Order: sequence, then C-alpha cells, then structure tokens
Amino acid sequence: MALLVQKYGGTSVASIPHLENVARRILASREAGHQVVVVVSAMGHETDRLDDLAQQIGVNPATHREVDVLLSTGEQVTTALLAMVLMKHGCPARSYTGGQIRILTDSAYTKARILEIECDNLRADLTLGTVAVVAGFQGVDADRNITTLGRGGSDTTAVALAAALGADECQIYTDVNGVYTTDPRVVDSARCLERLTFEEMLELASLGSRVLHTRAVEFASKYRVPIRVLSSFNDSPGTLITNEDDSGMEQPIISGIAFTQDEAKLTVLGVKDIPGIASRILGPISDANIEVDMIVQNVAADNSTDFTFTVRRTDYQQALAVLQDVAAQIGARQVSGDNRIAKLSLVGVGMRSHAGVASKMFKTMADESINIQMISTSEIKISVVIDEKYLELAVRALHAAFDLAAASA
Ligand code: ASP
Ligand code: MG
Repeated sequence: MALLVQKYGGTSVASIPHLENVARRILASREAGHQVVVVVSAMGHETDRLDDLAQQIGVNPATHREVDVLLSTGEQVTTALLAMVLMKHGCPARSYTGGQIRILTDSAYTKARILEIECDNLRADLTLGTVAVVAGFQGVDADRNITTLGRGGSDTTAVALAAALGADECQIYTDVNGVYTTDPRVVDSARCLERLTFEEMLELASLGSRVLHTRAVEFASKYRVPIRVLSSFNDSPGTLITNEDDSGMEQPIISGIAFTQDEAKLTVLGVKDIPGIASRILGPISDANIEVDMIVQNVAADNSTDFTFTVRRTDYQQALAVLQDVAAQIGARQVSGDNRIAKLSLVGVGMRSHAGVASKMFKTMADESINIQMISTSEIKISVVIDEKYLELAVRALHAAFDLAAASA
C-alpha cells in the first residue's frame, strides 16, 4: 500500500466524461490498496480563456492581485466537479482550494512560491478514507490574498503536497505517455523513457520539452519525491523520475535530445582584451532584464576578442539596441546578430563516466555538413548552436547515431 499524490492536467479533466475517466483511475488506485490525494488543473484551456479576459482589460503589476483571483477560479471548478463525480460513484471526496488547505505562499502574485503547507485537513481525510481533491496552481499569502504559482504550476502544487505528506510517488497524469528521448513530432522513432534522473529532467525541461513545470522538478529533487509522468488516456507505465542513486540501475550514456528555437545570438566584434570587458558588455544586458544563456569569448592573436552570447529570441531587438550603445562606449569594432539559430542539447548522466560523447556528436554533425556555431558543456549536457534550418536534420541524425530509439538494456 502506497500513499500517492495524483495530479491531473487540463487535457485530462477537459469535460465531464474526462472527469469520469479520472474518477475511474482514482477508484482503481484505491481498490489496489493505495491512499490517494488528488490535485487538479483547470479544465482544458480554461486558464487561457480567463487570462484572455484579463488581457482585454489590460494587465499591469497593480492588477496582478486581481488576475490571481480570476485565474484561480479555473482549478476551483474542477475540484468541485471531480469531488461530485467521485461521490456519485460512492467514493467519499472533498474539494479544497489552496487557501482552505492552507498552501502558504509569498505575495508575488502570478508567480508566487510555496513557503509552507498545512497538512491537517489532508491527513484527517486520509484517515477517514476520503479523497481530498485539491486545486493546483494556487495558494494564499500570509494576509489571505489568493496567489497563483505561474502557468503550469499545478505540477508544483502536486510535488509540494507529496513532499509535505511524505508520499511514495507523485503521479503527473497528462496527455502524453511520458518523457520522450526527443520530440516525437520531429523523430518518428522517439521512445518514451522508462526512467530519468531529476538532473536530466531539469535539463530537458528547461530546454523546451514542456512536460513538467521546472520548479516542480527542482522541488522533487530537493525533497526526493519520485515523480511519474504518465498518460490518463491509456495504461502505459510512464516515465519515473528519481534521484540518480535511487534508481539502482546503470544509466544510459545519453537519455535525450532537447532543442529550442527560442534563442538568438549576438556578437560584439573587435573588443579589447582587458579586464572588465565581459562585465561592461553583460552588465547593461542584465540591467535591461535580459537573460543570457550561452557565452563564448576567445582571444585572437592581435589581443582583440569577439564576444558572443545568446538570449531569448523575444529579447533580441532590445539586446541589439543595448549592445550598439555598449559597443560605442568600449570602442568595439562592430555588433552583429542572428536570430535564425537553434540550440540543441544532448543530455545524459552517463556522460560523466564516458569519454567520446562530444566527438561522436561533432562527427555526426560534420557528416551531415552542419556547421556548429557555439558549443557549451556541463557534466551531463553538451549544447550546440546551429542554423535553425538544420535543426530537424541534426536531431534525427543524433537520435540515430546514439541509438536512442532502441530501449536500453
Ligand atoms: N491551469 C494552470 C495553467 O494552465 C496551471 C496548470 O495547469 O498547471 O497554467
Ligand atoms: Mg501542465
């Protein structure tokens, strides 16, 4: 018998028939002897609809408190309906808003962080055999204002509840079978992974495979809550995400290939190679609230240097404007940029103990005549920037070269 927190996302709760399906799953888990606490998202695209209403009026920081009151209603609807469906099937159930549980957050409306969770209600329900159905994505601050956790935040609610209750597993039900080796829309033979470590998931999540809220993974990693991502539409086992040492298996060298086209590249050419240059270039960029991702700098024989970095594509024009000013101030020769790039990363904890991954990666790209513009590495990741028109070719070639379609032994 296990204590499970089950989270059902928007597509899994989109209609009453969907809620009937969810109820069947909850009942099946109970019949298998498990205790279940449920977290739900808003139905279908309800949060988008609500957000659109707010946008029609105009949103600014002064109205963020009201936006949270508005957006939090979506989840509340789902909790009541699901509790009613469960009760119709003879299963005792109770719905809760974040405030009723008391999911205490800070007061950063629209992107609040969970500070503390009171578990008294939930524990009482567990003792009575009642299924608590909790609204995801929301909490209250110390002054009882309603807050929300940022889009996709129901995952974080679920993991936080699982951590607070000491649950055995946090199950994230969604409309895909789990986490894939890469995007199945790009590579037909992409495979659903059985297991993944938190670290790998963080790399994959932040690189655009948007199956899980990044903060949920950070939370799970910190409190060692195993997460399982699985479909509410079939019975496949999904992907289990755990700590590396808890997984008890040898890790494959590469787990997945993540990619994003959401980046742009900027270069300051002909910069003097003297102390303080990086800070004079990147200081104004960060003052403009622009996040920098990859950075490359190298010194030429004449002691000048070209300084290249990437930003989000939506920040490209602004970053370019900032750099024109900076270049004039520091006497750089020229500023250039390219917003038709893509970033691609190979991710795998097995890389730590295996040499040759990078060279195999570069050889594969060379064989396809794909030019690599930038490279960066971490212990478990190798990222390259390439021309976006070669992205799909590169992903397919690497997926094949590293044999990712074959299930690891
Ligand atoms: N309903 C919210 C959203 O769409 C939270 C969630 O689904 O996780 O972002
Ligand atoms: Mg989601």
